[in-house]
Amino acid sequence: MRNVICGRCVKCGREYEAVPNLTNCACGGILDIIYDYDYIKSHFTKQTLAERNNPTMWRYRELLPVEPDTPDTPLRVGWSPLYEADRLAKQLGIAKLWIKDDGLNPTASLKDRASAMAVAKAKEAGADVIACSSTGNAASSLAGNAAAAGLKTFIFVPSRAPKGKVAQLMTFGATVISVQGSYEDTFELSKQAIDKWGWYNRNAAINPYLSEGKKTVGLEIMEQLSWQVPDYIAISVGDGCTIAGLWKGLKDLYAIGFIDRLPRLISAQAEGCHPINRAIETGEPWYPMEENTLADSIAVGVPRNADKALMAIRESDGLVVNVTDEEIMAAQKLLGTTCGVFGEPAGVTGAAGLKKLCEQGRIPKDAKVVSVVTGNGLKDVANAIKACGEPISIPSDMDRLLEAFAQRNIHPEA
Ligand SMILES: *Cc1c(COP(=O)(O)O)cnc(C)c1O
Ligand SMILES: [Zn+2]
Repeated sequence: MRNVICGRCVKCGREYEAVPNLTNCACGGILDIIYDYDYIKSHFTKQTLAERNNPTMWRYRELLPVEPDTPDTPLRVGWSPLYEADRLAKQLGIAKLWIKDDGLNPTASLKDRASAMAVAKAKEAGADVIACSSTGNAASSLAGNAAAAGLKTFIFVPSRAPKGKVAQLMTFGATVISVQGSYEDTFELSKQAIDKWGWYNRNAAINPYLSEGKKTVGLEIMEQLSWQVPDYIAISVGDGCTIAGLWKGLKDLYAIGFIDRLPRLISAQAEGCHPINRAIETGEPWYPMEENTLADSIAVGVPRNADKALMAIRESDGLVVNVTDEEIMAAQKLLGTTCGVFGEPAGVTGAAGLKKLCEQGRIPKDAKVVSVVTGNGLKDVANAIKACGEPISIPSDMDRLLEAFAQRNIHPEA
C-alpha cells in the first residue's frame, strides 16, 4: 500500500507496519492508520473523482488502506443519498439541513462501510472466517458482506438485540451466539473465542481499518456537497468508532486540500448511556456507564473507541448532547413525517440531538448542518410502532370509516 505509511498508536505513538491483520498496540491502545498525503495528492484530484463511475465507498480507494489489486467487495456499500431537508430546517430554525440516509446501505446501516473494509482486509490476509461481537448492526453487516464474498462468520450479539437484526444474521448464514448479558460480556466472549481459533477480527475496538471504512461517510458528504463545508455534522455515538471515522475522513480531505476548513461535530448519545459525552462535559477521563436506552445500537457502556472519539470531538471543537428515549422516539417520527426517512432509534439520535441543541439556542440561526441517519427503522419495528402509534383499525365499512375520522378529527376532503 503505497498510500499508507503505518499504523500508529493513539496512546503511546508506537508505529507498526500496516499488515492486513493489524490489531492493537502492545500498550493496549488502538492504532490510527497514517497516510502519505503528499503521495495521495499527486495521484488523486477532484477531477479524477468526478470522472469515476463507481457509486460505492471504493470510489475513494486512494484514501483507503487496501492494496491496489484487492478487489472491491461485492455489495454496493456507500454512496447513500444526501437529502435536502428544507422543511425540517425551517422547523428547527436553521438555514440549511441535509439528511444523509445511511440506512440505505445493503444491510441497512452505516456499519456496512466498516464490514466491507473488514472483508477486503480478511481477503488480503487470506482468511476464510471472520468474527465479531456487536450490538447488532456490525454483526448483520459483517454477515451480509462476508456472505457475498464467500467468507464464513461467527457472530456474538447480546441477547437484547432486536429481532430484525437477528433475522438478518440467520438469513446471511452466520453462526450466531446470543450472549445472555451486556454488550461488554458479549465482547469478552468473542475476544476469547477469536484468540482461541484465530479468526479474522472485525471488532472495531481492535481492528484499526474499520474506522477507515467508516470515514467514507465523511468523504461522501463532502463530495455530495460539492466540497462546500457545512458548519456542523450531527451523528450518534456508541462505541465511538463511527464519529472517529467521520472525523478522519474530513481531516483526510483537509490534508489533501479538497476542503479548506472543517465542520464541528455534534456527538449525540442517549441520556441513559453517555460515557463519552460525560467525559467531554466533565473534562475527566471516561469511565463505564449503565446501558439504559432503547437505542440498542448505541447502548455501549464500555466504549472501546473512546480515545479516538474524544479526540475527534475535541479537535473539531464539537458539541455534545444527550437525549432521552422519548426525544429519540420523537425524532423518529419527525424524520419520518418531514423527510420520509425511516431510522432506527440509534439511527435518528443525531437528529434528536440536533433538535435539542436548536431548542436550547446552541446552534446559530444561519447554520448549515448535516445530520447522519446511521441505521434503518425496519430493523426494529417494535420501537417504531411504539414511537409512532398504531393505525386506524376497523372493518370494511364506510360508516365506521366516517366515524373513525370524526373521532380523530381527521378531514379527508382534499
Ligand atoms: C454502531 C451504530 C452507531 C454508533 O457507532 P459507534 O461506532 O458504535 O459509535 C450509531 N447508530 C447505529 C445505527 C449503529 O449501528
Ligand atoms: Zn501504544
